[in-house]
Amino acid sequence: MLKLYNTLSRKKEVFEPIKDKQVNMYSCGPTIYDFAHIGNFRAYVTADLLKRFLNYSGFKVKQVMNLTDVDDKTIRRSQEEKISLKELTKKYEKAFIEDIQTLNIIMPEVIPKATEHIKEMVALVKKLLEKGYAYRTGDGIYFSISRFKNYGRLAGLNLKKLKQTARMRKDNYEKEEAKDFALWKLWQPEDGAVYWQTEIGKGRPGWHIECSAMSMKYLGEHFDIHSGGVDLIFPHHQNEIAQSEAATGKKFVNFWVHNEWLFVDGKKMSKSLGNFYTLRDIIKKGFEPLALRYLFLTAHYRSQLNFTFENLESSQNAYERLKNIASELKDDKKTNKEYLKEFEDAMNDDLDTPKALKVLWELVRDEKAEGKFQTIKKIDDVLGLDLFKKEKIEVSNEIKKLVQEREKARGSKDWKLADKIREKIAKKGYCINDTSKGPVLTKN
Ligand code: AMP
Ligand code: ZN
Repeated sequence: MLKLYNTLSRKKEVFEPIKDKQVNMYSCGPTIYDFAHIGNFRAYVTADLLKRFLNYSGFKVKQVMNLTDVDDKTIRRSQEEKISLKELTKKYEKAFIEDIQTLNIIMPEVIPKATEHIKEMVALVKKLLEKGYAYRTGDGIYFSISRFKNYGRLAGLNLKKLKQTARMRKDNYEKEEAKDFALWKLWQPEDGAVYWQTEIGKGRPGWHIECSAMSMKYLGEHFDIHSGGVDLIFPHHQNEIAQSEAATGKKFVNFWVHNEWLFVDGKKMSKSLGNFYTLRDIIKKGFEPLALRYLFLTAHYRSQLNFTFENLESSQNAYERLKNIASELKDDKKTNKEYLKEFEDAMNDDLDTPKALKVLWELVRDEKAEGKFQTIKKIDDVLGLDLFKKEKIEVSNEIKKLVQEREKARGSKDWKLADKIREKIAKKGYCINDTSKGPVLTKN
């Protein structure tokens, strides 16, 4: 039985889907105005891990991950680059899809874009206007948080306090309260060519409404799991709950799952602080992308994780050792029930990946254990480390020739010559490992 920490109740709860074995899950995705950084990928790997473990546990998962392709940042960036919004977001959508594949994240079943769901958002805003939860101002349509009774439950906010601070502030909008948020933003000259002519006015959607409209479209008005980083609890997820529940009169989501920060030098990794690395940055430095995935797994998703290149390097070493061991294993067609049970217990306890990795290493080191191949394969299906994937290293003919020469030398037991050739190969940047299936090259 999976126990999952639910931000809504602030405790671990036994997870059960609303309907049979079907799990409907929504993960807040990226704003596609730039490359995502590796802090963002901690959020997407966490969601992927949960999805993989649910699959492993016999559930069928439908995951929706949105792409925010219209907001202040995307509009500003497209103007700076003097290209259309579409051109800009297309480029970074492609990069994002490539990156999630590189990190062995299972492709979400639906990846909807905000600009392709304006109709659904307008319908939702209209409903909120009709029901009296929303009101118009000179620059848009806002959601009134004080008209929604349960506002603040997810974020643990005291609404009275919130209102007091709001009143103390001088607000330059004509909003009723400072914390009211925009559902629809009327066109402003700085938006340029970006607007939709709709029943509720010429303009564009606010940020929060896209996630409510798209999640409910693909997963229904009441669904199982919603995920994202802790920074999204407030205001984003709190606002999603308010506008969705106000519109439907139903509970929106059962489980809210939030991952903690990826830190760098003791500070949150973020675009605005400029202390970020993209996945491409770390690949350029010679790291294996799945070594980053391994690094994420070394910390529980609800603990902060400090990123350093030393950490990444030791993760890469551990990861490569695991891969080398996996490539040597013979399939005895058995599974090791004890180790598998320990692994499941760890994962059932709110996805305890540090413990799961410990179990994996114990199994790997246990010389007497049976069923290693099948058991590690099952564990790897959940952790997503691709331990059995043979690396396709493209080597030049020169290297291939050297490898052949070395094999010849070994065949005639000329170990000196074989070692000499090994050194030559090393100087060209490759490490040669002699396995039972012959020589295997890895990058130095
Ligand atoms: P954003 O593009 O800022 O909306 O972020 C996309 C996702 O990444 C959200 O779920 C954020 O909560 C998450 N996120 C952003 N920065 C970090 C970080 N440094 N560590 C972990 N998650 C993050
Ligand atoms: Zn969202």
